[in-house]
Amino acid sequence: MVVSISSICLTAVGLSSLSGLAAAQHIISAAQKGAQCCNLLTKAFPSKVAQNGTTAYTTEDQNFWSTSEWLSPSCIFEPTQAKDVAKAVKLFADNECEFAIRGGGHSAVPGAANIDDGILITFTNMKNVSIHTDKEGAQFVSVQPGAVWGDVYAYCDQYSVVPMCGRYYPVGTGLALGAGFSFLSNENGFAVDNVKTYEVILADGTILEASQTSHPDLFRSLKGGGNNFGVVTRYDLYLYQGGPVVGGQIQTPENQTEKWLDLTYDYSVRQAVVDVKTHALPAILYLGDTDEVLTSTPVYYNAHNSSALPPIMAGWYNMTASSDTVRQASYAALAKEFNANQGDGSFQEQRTYTITANREEYARVWYSFLEWGRSIENVTGLTLLHCNMPLTPRMMEAGVEKGSNSLGLAGTDDVLSILYFGLTLETYNETIVNSFNSIFATLQEESKSRGLLNPYIMWNYAGLGQEVFPSYGYSSLGFMKKVSKRYDPKGVFQRLVPGGFKLN
Ligand SMILES: Cc1cc2nc3c(=O)[nH]c(=O)nc-3n(C[C@H](O)[C@H](O)[C@H](O)COP(=O)(O)OP(=O)(O)OC[C@H]3O[C@@H](n4cnc5c(N)ncnc54)[C@H](O)[C@@H]3O)c2cc1C
Repeated sequence: MVVSISSICLTAVGLSSLSGLAAAQHIISAAQKGAQCCNLLTKAFPSKVAQNGTTAYTTEDQNFWSTSEWLSPSCIFEPTQAKDVAKAVKLFADNECEFAIRGGGHSAVPGAANIDDGILITFTNMKNVSIHTDKEGAQFVSVQPGAVWGDVYAYCDQYSVVPMCGRYYPVGTGLALGAGFSFLSNENGFAVDNVKTYEVILADGTILEASQTSHPDLFRSLKGGGNNFGVVTRYDLYLYQGGPVVGGQIQTPENQTEKWLDLTYDYSVRQAVVDVKTHALPAILYLGDTDEVLTSTPVYYNAHNSSALPPIMAGWYNMTASSDTVRQASYAALAKEFNANQGDGSFQEQRTYTITANREEYARVWYSFLEWGRSIENVTGLTLLHCNMPLTPRMMEAGVEKGSNSLGLAGTDDVLSILYFGLTLETYNETIVNSFNSIFATLQEESKSRGLLNPYIMWNYAGLGQEVFPSYGYSSLGFMKKVSKRYDPKGVFQRLVPGGFKLN
């Protein structure tokens, strides 16, 4: 793989606490250090470590959406319970071992959830999903970090309840550490705002629960803070009335682009605001192989037993569609359908920025991005994906109501639009990736010059090098840094977990 995080770096590390090694400090390579850490881990967990060269290792190492995440960890740790994770994290901290944490492996950021020459923690053996009732009589679902959202929907569908989680079947629980759009976001806010409790392993191996009443500072920081505070071993999520609901995907040819732009704008500023049970994920693609543009928008109405989209969504079903799958279905079935053709096993690059909703700007951004795509010739498999997802004041308010988050969005009165830019290639191509990043920077700069740029950068859709945490604002970032020092004074999750967006 071309994108290498640390394989060619030599690291100076102190060896004094590694058993069987000379007490003297000396310089070893990152690979040697990783191997030593794996030896310690294997002694502690003889049956839970997959070694390089085994089938288990290869399967886990390649269990990522984007090939940019196929790295070369020294070994892979497969815990079966929170206590295993606690013991391992303490071992890593005591011995200065670098590690990565993988949920569902759907980040496109190289090294966010994998590592060269360190230990990869996966949760393949921690996938339980179970429904419980709290002291007040409210139901919630407990989800272990290895479950994917499709598993969660499939389980909850049986009871006609639904939590706020990702919309695509194989996407993982890491989503609930960033912000997280869900089918029900217009009504209930982000996924992070609908976490009741995180069970989290701190750097010293302590297992604690963070909620509105227990360690609320940590709770707030985890809601947007990614892997900066600990390893989450359980997510308890609020439940809402579930399906079946009406939903499906509407695709149209290129000649419907203007209509799609009108509807995307109307959805942002009217449909999503007036009727919070509506949901759409306006998306448009450019397929380089056939020089084809198609709009492809999942639409739903989140009312239990709904069987048709409401009149406020009529624009969507009145488009001249090349394909329309809208019908009554379970959330799990919809999540499976939308994940078809999501480019699993290709190289992915992604970026995002946020603007104030504006119809003219939507058009300018898409047509410029498309023009860039069409200027690239002879690259098999090139695909561009552009999504436009509204952030309504109601959504931002929901975060405040449920104990606040770290995103710095509270009090925003405008409808904002999260703009997503995705590039899919069969294999990594440095020239095209650089060119993609450069057109992205130009588009963002132009939105800024038109006075439409909002500083927020959504963790879930951000790309390598984007400054996610500063985008939450000075006050929120300062708060998170203080909380990090309080719960992780040695900076284990800053120094030894190098992947993903970091506070420092
Ligand atoms: C096809 C597709 C569909 C998507 N749909 C949506 C959507 O509907 N809504 C939305 O908001 N986003 C969506 N996303 C974006 C998604 O939120 C991010 O990709 C997110 O990172 C996925 O989480 P994961 O667990 O699969 O990722 P991973 O790559 O496994 O992890 C992402 C980050 O979280 C950290 N992390 C994961 N688990 C833990 C843990 N237990 N403890 C501590 N840190 C952890 C990792 O270290 C890593 O830095 C989608 C992405 C794709 C590719």
